[in-house]
Amino acid sequence: MSDALCWQSAGTLAAAVRRGERSAVEVLEAHLDRARAVEPRLGAFVRLCEERARRAAEEIDRRVAGGEDPGPLAGVPLGVKDNLCVRGVETTAASRILSGYLPPYTATAVARLEAAGAVVLGKLNLDEFAMGSSTETSAYGPTRNPWDPERVPGGSSGGSAASVAAGEVPLSLGSDTGGSIRQPAALCGCVGVKPTYGLVSRYGLIAFASSLDQVGPLARTCADAALALDALVGPDPRDATSASPPWDPAARPFAAAVAAASLEGRTLGVVPEYLERTADPEVRTAVEKALGAAERAGARLREVSLRSADEAIPAYQIVSTAEASSNLARYDGVRFGRRCAAPKDLEDLYARTRGEGFGREVKRRIVLGTFVLSSGFYEAYYLRGQDARRRVRADLLAALDDVDALVGPTSPVPAFRLGERLDDPLAMYSVDVFSVSANLAGLPALSLPCGFTAAGLPVGLQLTGRPFADPDLLALGRGLEEALALPKRRPLP
Ligand code: GLN
Repeated sequence: MSDALCWQSAGTLAAAVRRGERSAVEVLEAHLDRARAVEPRLGAFVRLCEERARRAAEEIDRRVAGGEDPGPLAGVPLGVKDNLCVRGVETTAASRILSGYLPPYTATAVARLEAAGAVVLGKLNLDEFAMGSSTETSAYGPTRNPWDPERVPGGSSGGSAASVAAGEVPLSLGSDTGGSIRQPAALCGCVGVKPTYGLVSRYGLIAFASSLDQVGPLARTCADAALALDALVGPDPRDATSASPPWDPAARPFAAAVAAASLEGRTLGVVPEYLERTADPEVRTAVEKALGAAERAGARLREVSLRSADEAIPAYQIVSTAEASSNLARYDGVRFGRRCAAPKDLEDLYARTRGEGFGREVKRRIVLGTFVLSSGFYEAYYLRGQDARRRVRADLLAALDDVDALVGPTSPVPAFRLGERLDDPLAMYSVDVFSVSANLAGLPALSLPCGFTAAGLPVGLQLTGRPFADPDLLALGRGLEEALALPKRRPLP
């Protein structure tokens, strides 16, 4: 019985709690039981905040008993990637350098979901500072893929995807700088949305590359992701890059779009360069089958070429590492988190705190980013990277002129084995080939499940849309879910 609660949608759970048919405490306890049962095999959470969650759930139940409506996410258990600050709850971005850091404020994205009634169950594992594609660079050790624990869940939001796929929470928050919401969603078989740049506040998100970072939801269905997005989007005076969309966020545009979803008469742009670069034939087959199902449901397919396809990864590497080297300069042993023992002088304090506190991948990015920004190399690398970024954006916007969304695989490969790519950075970076463009261009993109390989590994389909077409992108996702009608499967019994 209690396990069955863990496979209900966020929408169903919230409706039952709002009507007083289920208590938020009962919903919470069922999910905590499930987490205790699977965490030893999964490692999705870096910490649970049980006491805080119980207090929040009890408060929701009190409000329902008092005739109040706690909101559209009433009692919905929520997992939060550990690079989003929650006041008074240790937040580390999976880095030793932030161990013990207690944020004095809560990220806007978390606060908005809590204000809608969600209950934070705990903090989720990630690649250190969200740098990676496998959740293996975490200082806490890796998270495992719920469909095959010998494989990675993807990254960097591996904990966010694995926890949702394994039924520990119906909803989680992740961050996406170059694919970190969509790629783990694809590898774990759930839905992940990277909104248009600026649509969701970055306040309280530990910065990786500020011009690319976006916060977004992961869920098991597009309807649940839409429920979260209606609570998340909208301008925030605390984030100067937060944007006002050309529609009214208060009108719940995501729920409305998903409710009216249809593929009839919609045009999807199929990018041949993406299919050609899909290394795994089973991924390609699953995506082609999904395109067929979309056509049968009334969608038109049109081939659109992206000439910038090979520029995206180099542009992303230059821009993201440059911004990371600047953002990570603040971890100096003076202001945040951990400090080395017995420093001799200030220089020694900086060097040893950073030397001991950062892992290999983070150091590699800081060195690369410092190099591309250094005088003498700035023009040759950083400025050329920015030029390439502009070409990628122009290319994508032109391709989107004649179609409602671009469609293709989210990742060229399904979940790979733990350790397989860890010592080969270029092999690790290559799995981002289809995801980084949306960040470079600031466009909305989502991944949804579109099938399984013969070995039972999920395959993800990516949709990319025009700026602020986010509600319509969710509607297209919902339409594809209906057209595909995938059988419900559950990992980790
Ligand atoms: N995998 C990409 C990287 O390693 C993207 C990470 C992200 O989106 N945070 O940089």
